[in-house]
Order: sequence, then C-alpha cells, then structure tokens
Amino acid sequence: MKLTLDVCNVCKVPGLPVARYLVRREGGALKKLDLCATDAAPLEDLLTHAEDEARPRSGAPRPRKRKVMTLEEIDALKRKADRSAPAKNDE
Ligand SMILES: [Zn+2]
Repeated sequence: MKLTLDVCNVCKVPGLPVARYLVRREGGALKKLDLCATDAAPLEDLLTHAEDEARPRSGAPRPRKRKVMTLEEIDALKRKADRSAPAKNDE
C-alpha cells in the first residue's frame, strides 16, 4: 500500500491541511506551493493586494486583421486590372 500525503512545502508537518498555490514571476516558470495556513499567511496577506490578471473579454472588439498579400496575388490583381481596362486598338 502506498500512501501519498500533501504536506506544507515550508514546515512539512504531516497531517496539516494544505492549500495549493501556483505562483509565477512574470516571464518565469510556474511554481507550485502547498502551504499550511500558518505558512500561507504571508502569501495570503500579499494576495489581498493582488489584482486579477486582465483577461481578454470574449465579445470585446478584436483588432482587425490586416490582410497580407503575396507578390503573386498583387501581380494577379494588376493583370486583372489591365485586362478590364479599355483595350487599345493599335492594330
Ligand atoms: Zn507549513
């Protein structure tokens, strides 16, 4: 039988209820911390000053995508324009 136990990352006291925190410094890796109430207190205190991360709202207007044309597409448009232009009767 195998028993796994979540213990606080700081005090490692077995049997204490822990809460999981995922912390990430901007640009850094996501870190996992299991903390008992005592060791989580400083973090919980910090969290009272935290702001919710801004998420893009669904339904918000999206910036319009600029269509990128290849040179071939531009040439094709030019050719089409030339053909639709009144033909010269040089003959
Ligand atoms: Zn602890």
